[in-house]
Amino acid sequence: MADGPLPLIDGFGRVHRDLRISVTDRCNFRCSYCMPAEGLPWMPREDLLTYEELTRVARVCVERFGFDGIRLTGGEPTVRAHLPVLVEQLAGLGVDLAVTTNGTTMRALAPELVAAGLRRVNISCDSLRADRFAEITRRDELARVLDGIDAAVEAGLRPVKVNVVVMRGVNDDELVDFAAFGRERGVTVRFIEFMPLDAQGEWTNDQVVSQGEIVAAIGAVFPLEPVTAAEQGSAPASRFRFRDGGGEIGVIASVTQAFCATCDRVRLTADGTLRHCLFATRELDLRALLRGGASDDDLAAAITAEVGAKWAGHQIGQVQFIRPARSMSQIGG
Ligand code: SAM
Repeated sequence: MADGPLPLIDGFGRVHRDLRISVTDRCNFRCSYCMPAEGLPWMPREDLLTYEELTRVARVCVERFGFDGIRLTGGEPTVRAHLPVLVEQLAGLGVDLAVTTNGTTMRALAPELVAAGLRRVNISCDSLRADRFAEITRRDELARVLDGIDAAVEAGLRPVKVNVVVMRGVNDDELVDFAAFGRERGVTVRFIEFMPLDAQGEWTNDQVVSQGEIVAAIGAVFPLEPVTAAEQGSAPASRFRFRDGGGEIGVIASVTQAFCATCDRVRLTADGTLRHCLFATRELDLRALLRGGASDDDLAAAITAEVGAKWAGHQIGQVQFIRPARSMSQIGG
């Protein structure tokens, strides 16, 4: 092995430091913009990487390439048994470790996750109205999710961020309610533009509520200002702070203001393929390498080649855009 980590750089000079790991494609919700009501054909159990295999890929990324961030997602990551065991293994790598969850299990699991070394969490919640929440997620669980947000804060996770996918005519009348919710609870709400990754393929551009519209609607009630470029960093969310000091919001404008030029992420699906982009149309089969006796050098070489082939960016909204064959829940959002 080389003396120290060597940066993982693609053909456009972007340095990669962030690994998104999907631990399962299964979910206890059926969000209408993500999965059909009946679910999807789940990945066979034996195809899922074990916690040891996931940790090995993560370790190679940290040791060989200096990765400093890992996020666990899914599907719903907390439906995979013994998630704190994986968190403990990954926490040992000393990186910024986070989980993205729908929050339903936080009351039960947050203290265990904290004890295992988790420091922060993102919780998804697309409506603050119980009937609408049930319609979007096809589960009557708003109260449990709100309690999960409180449980995460009480367990000491910081920051707790709340992710809201904004869809025109569905929940875009709740932007100000969500901003007020974030201010009251001391959590950062991040509004996500709706992306063409729904399993049903029903996404259309006119359902996307743009960053400009989101910021204008909230700013009219709670005046906002953008954070400085230095504070912004490579985070995908454009950050805006309330002028009165009441915290901040974020907007993930993947569609109208794609942030591909500063992308520092690679993704590992639950069945062990490495993707250099959420929208990539190619994948590297790391599971075959892991189970075929590959050394760490072999893994590092394969990852280097895959990231070397990364494209400049996705092309949502352009004629040449091709939807990836997998949906969001199968890739890991
Ligand atoms: N189950 C976890 C959760 O609910 O956060 C993690 C996985 S979920 C796929 C991750 C995030 O992707 C959620 O915030 C979800 O709302 C978002 N998401 C799913 N489909 C999306 C789409 N088509 N466009 C934008 N965001 C989407």
